[in-house]
Amino acid sequence: MSKKAQIKAVRGMNDILPGESALWQTVESVCASVFAQYNYRQIRTPVIESTHLFSRSIGADTDIVSKEMYTFEDRNGDSLTLRPEGTASTVRAGIENGLFYNQQQRLWYVGPMFRHERPQKGRYRQFHQIGVECYGWSSADIEAEVLAMVQQVFQRLGLQRTELQINSLGDSTARSQYRSALVEFLSGNVDQLDDDSKNRLATNPLRILDSKNQSVQALLGDAPSILDYLSDESAAKFADLQAYLTALEIPFTINPRLVRGLDYYNDTVFEWINPEFGAQSTVCGGGRYDGMVEQLGGQATPGFGFGMGLERLIQILQEQNAEIAQQQPHPDVFVVSVGEQARSQAIVLQKSMVNAGVCVQCHMGDGSMKNQFKRADKSGATIAVVLGEDEVAAGAATIKPLRGSPGESGGPAAQQTIAQIDVANVVTNLLESL
Ligand code: ATP
Ligand code: MG
Repeated sequence: MSKKAQIKAVRGMNDILPGESALWQTVESVCASVFAQYNYRQIRTPVIESTHLFSRSIGADTDIVSKEMYTFEDRNGDSLTLRPEGTASTVRAGIENGLFYNQQQRLWYVGPMFRHERPQKGRYRQFHQIGVECYGWSSADIEAEVLAMVQQVFQRLGLQRTELQINSLGDSTARSQYRSALVEFLSGNVDQLDDDSKNRLATNPLRILDSKNQSVQALLGDAPSILDYLSDESAAKFADLQAYLTALEIPFTINPRLVRGLDYYNDTVFEWINPEFGAQSTVCGGGRYDGMVEQLGGQATPGFGFGMGLERLIQILQEQNAEIAQQQPHPDVFVVSVGEQARSQAIVLQKSMVNAGVCVQCHMGDGSMKNQFKRADKSGATIAVVLGEDEVAAGAATIKPLRGSPGESGGPAAQQTIAQIDVANVVTNLLESL
């Protein structure tokens, strides 16, 4: 007998199984409610875009564009790419739909991103980001608002030891002066660079600062600092941001070697880092990208935003906050029913209770009363609604609390048999009192 090969998920792409999806939903709903409180609106863009959207915005020498994109030709021969990040699509959609025309925008998005990286803990080929993008402000107050939102999300989720690092990359003049100084310094120490960094010395030297190679990092301890090259205007904005963060009581450190992996940033960049997670320690990263809208064909519009890696955030939560990580949804009510007639009444009662806002699971198919009660218990339901032969004959149902209730010493409250027409009401009241 030939055994058929089992079809597996694509390497680096994960299923989010039912045991984990509640935590994902919690994280997403905490983000959505914090963003809503700051009056941000969601934007939903396609997962696939024209390839040149990313090569034009992210930068041809970046890791993403040079080696991580999922690019393919469709049936028309057009070159398309699975989006590796969310900012370029948001800018494209904003230009195409006139969102930047005489308007400021506070936007957020959530969804899968795709990068062909080496899969490991906290690094996958399909991963998920929640991100925020703001358009139309060049001052540091919007930056502080965005960082306050991130802190609020972390606080509501009970995330600990996640630290904010900030830096300023200045304007293009500052970066080109700094680039020369950095190249001069690194050229004098070329023997301490790995191959990757040697290549970047010619193409994109600032990216060497982002190297994960330890000996390169050690060398960089003595490298010149970009902060010494900022214009007065950039330096003043960076000082503003620090003052706002202090007023907001958001602790931060200045890391002059923070450059971020994408080429489009200017002035403020930042990362929220959880030091327990090694090379995958950045949970959230972002910055200012005042040139991108114009670069993609729109009228010059300042932009600021971040992307937060949900897999990394969730992993940290699972290790730090067991209470939130292990929360599993359970029904309020489990309906136990014996006999053909009871089955029909069970789903009708389910409908009436759902109508009243209750979460209801019915036993389906045959099964002894004893067996069904075992399942009711296992389901975690607070109340059983029982439709036995006597109840069915009388148009009644027995309400049996399964969990402790106030007024009694821990044990469940007494059961009661009531008319089926009253079940939704009685159950609703009982759930409120428990
Ligand atoms: P890293 O330096 O870890 O590769 P990055 O600079 O490439 O990160 P960004 O492009 O800024 O990351 O994306 C923002 C966030 O998305 C990251 O901070 C991280 O939390 C998450 N992220 C990025 N790439 C991956 C990946 N391959 N798998 C899981 N999460 C990722
Ligand atoms: Mg990366």
